[in-house]
Amino acid sequence: MTTATPDPTPVPPCPRCAATHVVRNGPNSAGTPTFRCRACGRRFVAAPRKGPVTDDRKALVRKLLHERVGLRAIARVTGLSRSWLQGFVNGVYEETPWDPGPLKKTTPARS
Ligand SMILES: [Zn+2]
Repeated sequence: MTTATPDPTPVPPCPRCAATHVVRNGPNSAGTPTFRCRACGRRFVAAPRKGPVTDDRKALVRKLLHERVGLRAIARVTGLSRSWLQGFVNGVYEETPWDPGPLKKTTPARS
């Protein structure tokens, strides 16, 4: 028996939990077929065009942030998306301790 529409791509395992119980989840906005893991719910494509950001690039972003380079400038230089960069910066600020210390004495206003 032959099916009318053969499977164009085999179903890959989940990239997050490596489970093989994966179902087709329709195309994404770019038309690439997506899959959903039944175990953890992760939605993914079979062959992503861009992988995760490497630690080297994250270190470069941290250096540029330390030099007080603007977020748009960092995005332009590194080629990272501004939305990814904003999320990364939010995480960096979450883990950065901030202790302003006691309030300074203010001088009374002159009349
Ligand atoms: Zn999974």
